[in-house]
Amino acid sequence: MNGRVLKYGIFTLILLITGMIPMAGFGAQRQNTYVILLDPAHGGADTGVMTDKLREKDLTLNIALLLRDEGKKISDFQFRLIRSADRSLSIAERIAIAGTAKADCIVSIHVNSGFGKKATGYEVYFPGFQQPIASGDQTTILRDMARNKTLNDSVRLAQEMQAELETVFPRKGRGLRDAPHPLLESVNIPGVVVEIAFATHPDDRKKVTEPETQQAVARALLRGLQDYFRKMP
Ligand SMILES: [Zn+2]
Repeated sequence: MNGRVLKYGIFTLILLITGMIPMAGFGAQRQNTYVILLDPAHGGADTGVMTDKLREKDLTLNIALLLRDEGKKISDFQFRLIRSADRSLSIAERIAIAGTAKADCIVSIHVNSGFGKKATGYEVYFPGFQQPIASGDQTTILRDMARNKTLNDSVRLAQEMQAELETVFPRKGRGLRDAPHPLLESVNIPGVVVEIAFATHPDDRKKVTEPETQQAVARALLRGLQDYFRKMP
């Protein structure tokens, strides 16, 4: 081995080491695939809101399937559905499926009803963690910290979803709300519930049953998810 080869070898080794260290650090901090779990609410015998023109369970599934299809264009997104067919699932079954999905966030899709016949527009909910934040041993503190992070991320996701849904239903937002949600709270990952339009309002009902609107909603939700992950602190 002559001096030149040795020098070259050492140089290569240094390049490799300095190149590998930042790569390892970068890889540890950033994921390149995000798993997004969609929960098309209701299904099977549980129709959700029903009028002579629509069944909530069909609409939620349609939008989830459209969103999954749109999402195929985003290489770092992987969509999983809690149900991809018309079947009944209890909350416990949904929680069990969500528990094995190892998702980075969850989006539960509903269609609204009630609040009187005049109520119209869309709503975005994030889970309200009702349990008091107790100070105590280290396990409790760590659990509370994780819960706070999940809550902050859920609020951020809700804001992004709201901003994008506004493009489909201008000035129809009814504000962000927090509400207890057994599925979202059990899985303890960031999540939101989107209530897309009111089945009980004739204009909303007409609009939300149109395929173009459903496609637009799917695209809006996808953009919301992209914004959420891009701005991840
Ligand atoms: Zn519902």
